[in-house]
Amino acid sequence: MGYYDREVVSRVDHKPPREDWMDTKPEFKIGNFIYPAKPKNLKYVGLPNPREWAPMDEDWKLPENWKEILLEGIAERLEKYRSFRLFMDICVRCGACADKCHFFIGGGDPKNMPVLRAELLRSVYRKHFTTAGKILGKMAGARDLTYDVVKEWFFYFFQCTECRRCSVFCPYGIDTAEITIIGRELLNLIGLNVNWVLEPVANCYRTGNHMGIQPHAYKEMTEFLLEDLETVTGIKVTPSFNRKGAEILFITPSGDIFGDPGTYTYMGYHYLFHYLESMGLDITWSTYASEGGNFGLFTSHEMMKRLNAKMYAEAKRLGVKWILGGECGHMWRVINQYMGTMNGPADFLEEPVSPITGTKFENANSTKMVHICEFTADLIKHNKLKLDPSRNDHITLTFHDSCNPARGMGILEEPRYVIKNVCNNFHEMPENTIREQTFCCAGGAGLGTDEMMEMRLRGGLPRGNAVQYVQKKHGVNHLGCICAIDRATLVTLCNYWAPGVEVTGIHEMVANALVVPGEKKRTQDFRFRPLKGMEEEADV
Ligand code: SF4
Ligand code: SF4
Repeated sequence: MGYYDREVVSRVDHKPPREDWMDTKPEFKIGNFIYPAKPKNLKYVGLPNPREWAPMDEDWKLPENWKEILLEGIAERLEKYRSFRLFMDICVRCGACADKCHFFIGGGDPKNMPVLRAELLRSVYRKHFTTAGKILGKMAGARDLTYDVVKEWFFYFFQCTECRRCSVFCPYGIDTAEITIIGRELLNLIGLNVNWVLEPVANCYRTGNHMGIQPHAYKEMTEFLLEDLETVTGIKVTPSFNRKGAEILFITPSGDIFGDPGTYTYMGYHYLFHYLESMGLDITWSTYASEGGNFGLFTSHEMMKRLNAKMYAEAKRLGVKWILGGECGHMWRVINQYMGTMNGPADFLEEPVSPITGTKFENANSTKMVHICEFTADLIKHNKLKLDPSRNDHITLTFHDSCNPARGMGILEEPRYVIKNVCNNFHEMPENTIREQTFCCAGGAGLGTDEMMEMRLRGGLPRGNAVQYVQKKHGVNHLGCICAIDRATLVTLCNYWAPGVEVTGIHEMVANALVVPGEKKRTQDFRFRPLKGMEEEADV
């Protein structure tokens, strides 16, 4: 095993409480819950019951008929989503998923075992929608929908990052993340949401991105970052925005333009596209579809659909042939699992074909969207990039498979192929913590806020321990990932669990290694750090 620091794990209290789980109430305390959504954000996107309230208050100011609303909501979803009904009925409580959730491993609360998290909703389903539950009640694992149960839902459905690790181990394929998604959707019907989710949703609805950046500001921020890029490389990059008639539209999460270390990956895309221009890449950015991420996924299916719609709308407006997407987690979950049927078919777009290699991305035939790691891996495979991996020799890298691209769409080999071509020092974390079994950053699905810090760090224990393991064994000093949320949350996680390890996107590494005609002698990486052997020259 080797990836758990046993001394650390033994300090987590995994003893179940004395009373029955149905009688144990959640204890809201600073660090384990997220502040409620502000009324202005609910109003902005037309969600019900906008008001000031606090989870630690007795009275959550729910609508008078909250119970009726929730039961109707469950009935409607049982009808609409066959998977939901199935997941409510088929769990045999085998326990295979019980110890697979990072929040249970790091926190010890039994209700963070996936099986019990689902049971919070399943017990109400039994009571109100099954004959056995109606007659036998508690004996059949059924319980009434009470005010306390609603509070419990809010507490535990916002302690799940919808990462789907548990589903990998379930012999029946029950996906607890889908249950959490429905749970949150139900809570939204009575005005229960968190601001860390709803503010980005409202911003996205207003300006097209989570940060609420206006189009002109998006362009100015890009120019500012490209000045840094020019200082490091001597190359002036001049991207095009909102250009009608371009062949490809590029969409990526706004988190990468807003904060380090994502900004370096953002600069990396620009550098790569500049390199490819002379080879025939005809690409445009959009200041309207300026967000790949979609916090609607953490709100409701309807909201996810609304926010996703702008990708195709913008592609249509600009008249492009297909869309290229940047490194992101939940953006790709939405694209890969829902977009084609939700807002497609995108018949106005064409089958994506790389203008550089001629490769047809048949796998993207339905969505007409290609993942940047597939695109770059294909370029490398066809020997189209001049790369000098020694420019990354100051980096000893490990790779965190971000939950959504890994488990949600099977992007496992492409980033590794790219990494091995741009970096000489790469070490995998232990087998049972990577690829399909990867451990979550504990800050996804709208949980990556500071008020949730205790739960984030507890939930980050398994990932943090695996990073620490390769740090000690191989001297790893960077953790690579292909997700903008990860780039934000893993910094905090590493600072706590594996201090000294920095976080990087893979296209930051690509751009470090890329040898671009006309560039000046490279002495620094995009973070203004000296390349190996260039320490003295970089100081000049
Ligand atoms: S592994 Fe599947 S069947 Fe077993 S307890 Fe978990 S959800 Fe239920
Ligand atoms: S989806 Fe992830 S966070 Fe949610 S219960 Fe499963 S393992 Fe835990």
